[in-house]
Amino acid sequence: MIIFAPVFQMSMELIQSSQELRNRLSEMKAKGTIGFVPTMGALHSGHLSLVERAVCECDNVVVSIFVNPTQFNDRADLERYPRNLDADMQMLRNTGCHFVFAPTVDDIYPEPDTRTFDFEGLDTVMEGKFRPGHFNGVAQVVSRLFSMVEPDKAYFGLKDFQQLAIVKQMVSQLQLNVEIIPCSIIREENGLAMSSRNELLSEEERKNAAIIYKTLTNAVKLTGKYSVTQLIQWMKDEINNNHYMDVEYVEIVDVGNLQPVKDWNHTGKILACVATWCGKVRLIDNMVLN
Ligand code: AMP
Repeated sequence: MIIFAPVFQMSMELIQSSQELRNRLSEMKAKGTIGFVPTMGALHSGHLSLVERAVCECDNVVVSIFVNPTQFNDRADLERYPRNLDADMQMLRNTGCHFVFAPTVDDIYPEPDTRTFDFEGLDTVMEGKFRPGHFNGVAQVVSRLFSMVEPDKAYFGLKDFQQLAIVKQMVSQLQLNVEIIPCSIIREENGLAMSSRNELLSEEERKNAAIIYKTLTNAVKLTGKYSVTQLIQWMKDEINNNHYMDVEYVEIVDVGNLQPVKDWNHTGKILACVATWCGKVRLIDNMVLN
């Protein structure tokens, strides 16, 4: 007897205008919850882990692919940012995602967005200090995308820890009705946090960038043995001793308010955060220390 196994063909729709998205989603909303994964494309397994979680938890899943100009404070970085919609569609095909929303800049910003947000100090440290205006741009685009998708849940990676804190702050400031779901950092085999920017690294740089993860995991072991200041210096030296690396900052902060921690008597969770250049590519990573 021949048994025919059923073949499930997931259909996934590419939508390129906000109007079309609104039309399609208004039908879907009646049928269940909406999960949303905002991305800038050049997808990798880190992004897919967010999509897979959304598919498990929501009836309809929208993934946006939009390289947001307002969050780039460096024009060269914006121009260099990898873009490949066909490859991204291919990556998403078997995830169970329903809609890929890939709008144009004019659709997201029919006129310039002049809003400024108050992040209560979350934006004055680390990424905010080195990339002025970056988080205001993130809040602009995420709030616009949220108003188009109207998701029940939105998924963000812990790799961009500060971004996650900023998005939560924006949601509470604008009193939006969306649950923000933090998702674990997905790493390459050598420990390097997956990132679209890793595509821009040479093979040698990619290999050497494993020093970031190695330093973070060793920092966990040294927590409490060195003072906070000594540990920061030790981490900077460890990473900078690799001649492919040029550290921008190492910070040890409270996970809630992202302010620097002075000593290990600190109550609450403590996070070590790193930003370093590897050649022309800027990489970030973080790890909870306690
Ligand atoms: P991006 O396309 O870089 O804007 O990232 C889109 C989303 O994917 C953000 O919420 C990121 O934090 C998340 N993400 C990026 N890389 C990773 C990773 N390696 N592991 C988990 N989430 C990630």
